[in-house]
Amino acid sequence: GIPIYKDGNPYCVLGLYAKEPNFFTDETLGLLEELKGDIEFALKRIEEIRNNVIISQALLKSPAAVFILDEEGKIVFCNETVLRGCGRSFNEIVGQSIEMFGFKLSDGSDFYPVFLKFVSQEGDKFEDVLFCSIKKIYMEMKIYPIEIGGGVRRFIFLGRDVSKERELIAKLEKVMLEDPLIGLLNVEGFERRVNKLLGEVVEGFLVVIDISNFTYINRTYSFEVGNRVLKEIGKVLQGIFPGSKDLIARLGADEFGCFLRKEDYGDVRGLIDRLGLVKEIRVEVDGQEIVVATNVGIGYYPGDGKSVRELLEKASLALSEAKRGGAGEFRFFASHMELKAQEIISLDQLLEKALENRWFVFFYQPYFRAEDLRLAGLEALVRIKVDGKIYNPSEFIDYLERSRFLPKFEEWMFEEIEEKARRFRVPISVNVSGRSFSRRGFVERFLNKFSGEDLSLEITERVFIEDVGYASDVIKRLRGRGIRVFIDDFGTGYCALSYLRELAVDVIKVDRSFIQGVVEKKRDRDLVEVIVLLARRLGIESLAEGVETEEQLDIVKKLGFNYVQGFLLEKPLPEEELLSKYPEILSKDSQKT
Ligand code: C2E
Ligand code: CA
Ligand code: CA
Repeated sequence: GIPIYKDGNPYCVLGLYAKEPNFFTDETLGLLEELKGDIEFALKRIEEIRNNVIISQALLKSPAAVFILDEEGKIVFCNETVLRGCGRSFNEIVGQSIEMFGFKLSDGSDFYPVFLKFVSQEGDKFEDVLFCSIKKIYMEMKIYPIEIGGGVRRFIFLGRDVSKERELIAKLEKVMLEDPLIGLLNVEGFERRVNKLLGEVVEGFLVVIDISNFTYINRTYSFEVGNRVLKEIGKVLQGIFPGSKDLIARLGADEFGCFLRKEDYGDVRGLIDRLGLVKEIRVEVDGQEIVVATNVGIGYYPGDGKSVRELLEKASLALSEAKRGGAGEFRFFASHMELKAQEIISLDQLLEKALENRWFVFFYQPYFRAEDLRLAGLEALVRIKVDGKIYNPSEFIDYLERSRFLPKFEEWMFEEIEEKARRFRVPISVNVSGRSFSRRGFVERFLNKFSGEDLSLEITERVFIEDVGYASDVIKRLRGRGIRVFIDDFGTGYCALSYLRELAVDVIKVDRSFIQGVVEKKRDRDLVEVIVLLARRLGIESLAEGVETEEQLDIVKKLGFNYVQGFLLEKPLPEEELLSKYPEILSKDSQKT
């Protein structure tokens, strides 16, 4: 009887019988001993093979992506998850390089060269999160080398799809870092975002904005309206600080925070001009205009602090200081900034003073009938005149239109125009910003104030494209009062030929850029010709802006424009000069066109 062992335990007995005695000699016993060894070996192999089948099935069916790679990254084996994932057959994949999947590592670099480096350095494990650019999935991946004898190695690559997890985490983070009411960052989100940024910026300002009359707004209107106001303020702030759109946060009930990179604002002056716009914010909720007053505290990076926490603290201290000064005040924490701020006469102050001291004046640029170059009307163009210095609208009009001064400016304009319209015997046109035009308050006042005066309003195309219904309604009412409507800068950007049919306007002013083109560019000339023709068909007159040369004048006349305007004929003039050059403006018997 020969006991057979498997895994060190008795497994069975091999029984052998012989009739003759002493049959099992030492020699036969030696052979039998060998047989025993062979059987035990075979048993072991059978078990191993069976196990291998099971293991390879498990690998094949595993939900993880499994590859076996050789030392060059060639795929020796892959499982069904891989095949399903890339929609190919086993034979198409095996023998290819792992490079075919275009994996990227978490730092954005290519996986393949890094894998080759790992192979050459004989490390014992490699892991990272890969991005597969073909399938747009993220994969948590581990690679283990195995020795298969003769100094040859294979690499087991195990990957797990973690795209869904990552998506969920991103969602969760957003929820945790965002203010649910107004969709801006919350304090946590702000701290994180800004802290991350601080390493990259050289200089910046952390601004804390507090609404000084929020309790009043909530009480006077309702919480619902209050919430909408907050939302609107968020939008306004994003408009004022476009470079910091994603760095604006709601820090408290009625407190906002913002981080401004200095480079976005040029210098402290640029920043102060922007901050001026925050002093008073007008928002419209349900057609009512609500005026929001604020205080602002500013911390300077890196001078006042190296972390968001520190900067917030300093900005808040500056804020309490600002509050003591009353609504609309802002303060820097750093005293040297504060001094600088006080030195700078900001646009804000310039406009405030201009309104207070009546520094605003109109210059008047005449326009003429194209056929005989007789005076046809005047365009009022605003200037600020102080101590012999004259500021042109390009220096302040943008700011003015966004600022709290707009209503006061409109007030001044109304008075000024009313007086001129009474005295002048020629039509006057006034420029109206989109912001004014789209405010019902402005339109109503205008309609109430003027009727029968020889007035025109110049608005730009953009204004009516934003809300055609509203614009066409207002235009109808204006014209019902005998006020003419000009479309300014026609052709810039929008070229709303199609709207002309719906909007009964009086004159289109074709933009200067086209008039400059008509001499040299045939395309411009053709386009302008069509515009003029189309306008005439619709009963609309046309004016050529910015005529600077005799050549331009010549062509413009030929193209059939009704009116011409430009430096060649006349520059914008101060009132005195205008009246001495064109005395017919005041004479009673001058003909109106
Ligand atoms: P705009 O309404 O297109 O006014 C024409 C501008 O072109 C004026 O500049 C005028 O001086 C200039 N201009 C006239 N003829 C020529 C020419 O032949 N060549 C050149 N190169 N320029 C010419 P200004 O006075 O600096 O006004 C700039 C803009 O500011 C105006 O453009 C208008 O959009 C705005 N603006 C002016 N006054 C007012 C105002 O009272 N209210 C509002 N809301 N905006 C105004
Ligand atoms: Ca104009
Ligand atoms: Ca214009």
